[in-house]
Amino acid sequence: MDVDVLKRVKIREQEPKVRATNFDEVCLGYNEEEAVAEANRCLHCKNPNCVKDCPVSIKIPEFISHIKDKDYVGAYQVISDDSALPSICGRVCPQETQCEMNCIRGIKGEAVAIGKLERFVGDYIKENNIEVKTDIKENGIKVAVVGAGPAGLTCAGELRKLGYDVTIYEALHKAGGVLTYGIPEFRLPKEKIVKKEIDRVEKLGVKIKVNTIVGKTIKIDDLMNDGVKAVFVASGAGLPQFMHIPGENSNGVLSANEFLTRVNLMHAYDDTYDTPIKRGKKVLVIGGGNVAMDAARTALRLGAETHIVYRRGEEELPARAEEVHHAKEEGIIFDLLTNIKEIVHDENNNVTHAKLIKMELGEPDSSGRRSPKEVEGSEYEVKCDTVIMALGTTPNPIIVKNTNGIDTNKKGCIIVDESSMTSKKGVFAGGDIVIGAATVILAMEAGKKAAKYMDEYIKKGN
Ligand code: FAD
Ligand code: SF4
Repeated sequence: MDVDVLKRVKIREQEPKVRATNFDEVCLGYNEEEAVAEANRCLHCKNPNCVKDCPVSIKIPEFISHIKDKDYVGAYQVISDDSALPSICGRVCPQETQCEMNCIRGIKGEAVAIGKLERFVGDYIKENNIEVKTDIKENGIKVAVVGAGPAGLTCAGELRKLGYDVTIYEALHKAGGVLTYGIPEFRLPKEKIVKKEIDRVEKLGVKIKVNTIVGKTIKIDDLMNDGVKAVFVASGAGLPQFMHIPGENSNGVLSANEFLTRVNLMHAYDDTYDTPIKRGKKVLVIGGGNVAMDAARTALRLGAETHIVYRRGEEELPARAEEVHHAKEEGIIFDLLTNIKEIVHDENNNVTHAKLIKMELGEPDSSGRRSPKEVEGSEYEVKCDTVIMALGTTPNPIIVKNTNGIDTNKKGCIIVDESSMTSKKGVFAGGDIVIGAATVILAMEAGKKAAKYMDEYIKKGN
């Protein structure tokens, strides 16, 4: 295969017009030949920036070197030392602002496609049903994890490798957290990838009890009275925010989380399932982050003309550049520097149109971002039948309210010390429940860190 070392091996994707009408994965990944060619672009730097910028410190040059040698199992073993979810991270991590950002190959030319190589390795192992054995020395000590998202799964996997008897308690009927109910199938296939990565954690011996709401079905205090030595709370930040504007209670207004959960977890896009879903004809998605892009691209696939309404400009869009690019290619219309003021409904309370207003950017605020201001007299109306709010999420207070002594901050996030312990002895926390809605890899980093400190805490005789 001919390779221009300055350029990445091009990744194959479904054509925009075709993929806009299906839920199959957009990115098709590298085949073996392409992966080896891309691996050959790595310079194997002595002081690799890529590793420094990876939140879980994957030994990147080392695993890439195994790909060069066509030793994909060796590559997987290197990644597994630091990450239990390579096929997932390879797909959804913002590599462009992490490992690939300061890649030395990127100084002259394009950075090595580290994420796509990681994905290749994870997928190769799954597609070929390769089992990589982990020796575990049982210690018989019980620990519990609340929530089976990336933070909980990572912490559970790490503790299990140390010999603990680990049980995850998960509120929903399926494990995975946002990976399962939030991120759409066309970015992260559920059966082919997420389920298989969770299966590997279960094969280590981690038990997952689904349909168990901690704080309701069982309480943390009860678990601890029942011999559990330490608990890791990783319940995420799944409570959606709304704008509190007139008309927000109309039929046809919903949160991005509800919309995506119905489509992903409850298969509403599949006619063989009974799950009801609003298939809008014209949909406005309010917000500019990854969640907004996912909701918009999902609404488009369900047949709607879809608009992103975002109050700042293109440069300020918080979503990953790749997601914005894909959304545009598929035909999402971006109404930038625009905000929604009111949602109007008919006598049956069904949404009929929205009142929008143009915005302009003022001076930077305390966060350094330029704050948007309304442009006087620029209000206008657009017809629409669905409005999806993708404005961010906060932690659900159910666990904290029903457990003695866990402190939170003003935003409802659990406060932890440098060892990830909460104000309640023996209860640790991490992921979105601590830092607010963030990323998969930061949740995994928190899970890994907490496992280390939980182990130290227990070994000290607590
Ligand atoms: P979660 O993934 O939220 O998992 C928490 C789990 O705890 C859930 O399964 C929940 O059901 C369970 N739970 C909650 N309360 C209880 C309870 N009381 N008892 C038992 N279980 C409970 N990040 C990226 O890096 N890249 C992306 O492309 C990306 N896209 C995203 C798209 C969407 C639509 C969304 C919503 C988020 C996206 N994110 C992305 C963010 C990322 O998914 C989250 O930061 C990450 O999943 C947080 O992991 P977590 O384990 O802390 O929480
Ligand atoms: Fe390879 Fe880039 Fe990492 Fe250097 S910084 S080792 S070129 S991936």
